[in-house]
Amino acid sequence: MARMATAYRIELKPGEVLFREGDTPSTAFLIESGTLRITAERDGSPVLLGDLSAGALVGEMAVLDDSRRTATVTALSGCVLTPIDRAQFAERLTAADPVVRALLLSQLSRYRTALATFTGNAPVASPESASHEASRALDKIRLESQLRNALEKRELEIRLQPVQHIASGSLAGYEALTRWTHPERGVVSPADFIALAEETSLIVPVGEYVLREVCVALRRIADQAPHVKPFIAFNVSGRQVGDADYVERVLVQLREHAVQPAQLKIEITESLVLDYGQIATLIEHAHKAGMQVALDDFGTGYSNLGHLHKLAFDTIKIDQGFIRQLEDPRCLAIVRAVIGMAGALGCDVVAEGVETPEHLAQLKQLGCQYAQGWLIGKPQTVDAAVATLAQ
Ligand code: C2E
Ligand code: MG
Ligand code: MG
Repeated sequence: MARMATAYRIELKPGEVLFREGDTPSTAFLIESGTLRITAERDGSPVLLGDLSAGALVGEMAVLDDSRRTATVTALSGCVLTPIDRAQFAERLTAADPVVRALLLSQLSRYRTALATFTGNAPVASPESASHEASRALDKIRLESQLRNALEKRELEIRLQPVQHIASGSLAGYEALTRWTHPERGVVSPADFIALAEETSLIVPVGEYVLREVCVALRRIADQAPHVKPFIAFNVSGRQVGDADYVERVLVQLREHAVQPAQLKIEITESLVLDYGQIATLIEHAHKAGMQVALDDFGTGYSNLGHLHKLAFDTIKIDQGFIRQLEDPRCLAIVRAVIGMAGALGCDVVAEGVETPEHLAQLKQLGCQYAQGWLIGKPQTVDAAVATLAQ
């Protein structure tokens, strides 16, 4: 009979069975003392799979992949075991990286197939949900390798979206937005691949790549349209900010392309779980080097006004979600208040996602300095931007 694990400690006498092949599991066990024998049936008689002793886990496989027991476990000597409930594993498995989970379940399934071949029994099928999840995790890992490859093949490109100075109607600068043209999937949205890159250290080479492209674009603008000096803002993710030498590395690239620091703006998105200390350091270093720093997507993330007064951002970018709903009096009240607050803090304001002339007129009335959005211009290739500037 399979043992119920209600106690925090289980004692087995020699010869006593802990569980049998075919049982439905709810518990794994940690062997505290004694030795257990693992056997499986082959042609009606037990075959020895191995012995386990103190410190080993037993019965964890079926608990991990929610399958029936594929072996029988019997005490060889007197044993003391600590039961570990399925929920304890499940909680950690759910919290684990999906790729790690997929690797574990794939190894488990391979072991089960080998065991079934050995015993001549039918293999235990993995639950449908597990295989679906594994395939999603593998999709992700595939996309990640393709992104690595794309970096080498230089398949990433930046597009420049114009930012307008509202009062004069003139071009102030651009935001660099990254595009990945995937050979099979077509254009992959940065919302998809940046998040993927942020999960691993891959965001660091992606960021370096984007920065290099931004510097190359600024160099081309300086060479072909020397009469204008637009800035280019680029997006930086939390992992990059964690690097204490980040600004120094930006400066290396700037020098290499003989670009002025004043033409570069760092955008940090508010929706990242920010480490305020690191950001304060980044802003300090950037200012020393002559670069500006913007707070992106303001109002969408973990807006912590308690920290804002300590962070000397040069610009606040109001998220497009607010601009899109300017007709709503409550949204309008928020935008007015943010513009007022930014002014009092000495920050410029960029309204993102400006799509209609009505919204632009309203923003002008509210005293917002800059606008970005499809009305002003869609993200364009560097070639197109340089050609327009050179006219
Ligand atoms: P973001 O920095 O807030 O960029 C603005 C996004 O709004 C861009 O989407 C842009 O194409 C879109 N947009 C601009 N004007 C309008 C408009 O009038 N209407 C609408 N509906 N949308 C508009 P995109 O290019 O898909 O980028 C999405 C996000 O991906 C960016 O949001 C940024 O957070 C991130 N991202 C893009 N490039 C990079 C990068 O090189 N590095 C990092 N770390 N993040 C990046
Ligand atoms: Mg941005
Ligand atoms: Mg934004």
